[in-house]
Amino acid sequence: MPLSADHHPFVELNAEESAVLERVRQLVTEEIGPKANSVGREDKFAWDTFRLLSREGLIANGFPREYGGIAATMMLRARIVEELARACSAAAAMLVGTDGSASAIIVAGSKELQREVLPRLASGERQCAFALTEPHAGSDLGNLKTIARPVEGGVRITGVKKFITRANVSDYFVVIAREPNSPPGTRHLLSYLVDRKSAGLTVSDDVPKLGWYGLPIAGLRFEDVFVPPERQLGERGVGMTIAQDLLLRARISHAAIALGRMTAALQIATQYTSRRQVKGQPISDHQGVQWMIADMGARIEAVRCTVYAAARRYDRGDADVALHGSIAKMLATDLSMKVSIDCLQLLGANGYLKEYPLERFVRDAKFNQIGEGTSEIHKNIIGAALTKIAAGMPLHPCLDIDPAVFAA
Ligand SMILES: Cc1cc2nc3c(=O)[nH]c(=O)nc-3n(C[C@H](O)[C@H](O)[C@H](O)COP(=O)(O)OP(=O)(O)OC[C@H]3O[C@@H](n4cnc5c(N)ncnc54)[C@H](O)[C@@H]3O)c2cc1C
Repeated sequence: MPLSADHHPFVELNAEESAVLERVRQLVTEEIGPKANSVGREDKFAWDTFRLLSREGLIANGFPREYGGIAATMMLRARIVEELARACSAAAAMLVGTDGSASAIIVAGSKELQREVLPRLASGERQCAFALTEPHAGSDLGNLKTIARPVEGGVRITGVKKFITRANVSDYFVVIAREPNSPPGTRHLLSYLVDRKSAGLTVSDDVPKLGWYGLPIAGLRFEDVFVPPERQLGERGVGMTIAQDLLLRARISHAAIALGRMTAALQIATQYTSRRQVKGQPISDHQGVQWMIADMGARIEAVRCTVYAAARRYDRGDADVALHGSIAKMLATDLSMKVSIDCLQLLGANGYLKEYPLERFVRDAKFNQIGEGTSEIHKNIIGAALTKIAAGMPLHPCLDIDPAVFAA
């Protein structure tokens, strides 16, 4: 149903998973929700929220059990993230960020490295950020310029990374770099786990931004930073494969964040308009308002199915999950922007105030459309994939027209 995920036919959780989710909902009601507006007022790392999520064993729910996680499925993760995002984007994104950066270590790190780093990330004692974007390579990852130069006993990394979430509170960075003199493109990328204390690595001050408060961003500068071979994640050339799985997980999770936010925005706007009276009548009695609520609710429900279906496809290991991840990410984040701003409108001037959550939702919704691949980039991915799929299908039976039409 549009206002919650209760009894959704796509969501099947076992007893342990249901108990985890129930605990998350309790935390949102009792702790995270009441503090979310103050987290959203100042762009400082939300330590209280982070410590709570770590203490509750949620921050690293996707980790294997031996390293302090519960090996959560993508479906459970999507549901947890959605529930957190109903109140606080930062809380939800802390889980996504921890999972994203650590999944590279889980997939491609040595056993020793996993044993050294993962339990500390799971307990919240340490943090790890993901450093991919550069000043001239955000959407265009083929243009990455950070170089990992082979030297005796390891590599030396030189380059600049931009917009890195949690950079100033992280102890490690998963860094994507390229081989020297490699041709443009993503085939020659390498992935490393770099210690924050490494000589030659500097982190800028936090960079002011519009929203997504509680999770500041900063830039990184690598000047001949030495990295030993045991910190390389995966073999030569698999850097992009690692980044792609990590980005896919993050994309489905960002779709779930958007879903949680817009579901909450609709709940808030509906509850507000049914109580707020103008000329002695609740605003929600007006057909114009009812239609807005109906439009938003119907579209949210359609997107909910798309997001859960993408999570299920990930858990099943479907070959076309990347396409469905892009569809879910684009639809959910674009709709979340529209729903957030329309719900703000329904609250009138109160919607514009910091006292109410909708101005925060609007600021956070905007980043959802930019991070983990912009909506435009996902359109490119979806368009290219569908064109390829259609080319491999038999010609539609109604398209029995003169072949000359297709001639060059
Ligand atoms: C708050 C925040 C947190 C972030 N956290 C991280 C992080 O932790 N780690 C990290 O590595 N990065 C992070 N990023 C970076 C983020 O992932 C990139 O900003 C994003 O991928 C977009 O890249 P860009 O800013 O370079 O935009 P550009 O690539 O410069 O794009 C600018 C505009 O052009 C459009 N565009 C570009 N190419 C095309 C095309 N081919 N077709 C149509 N339109 C196109 C884009 O959609 C966009 O609207 C963060 C950014 C922000 C703002």
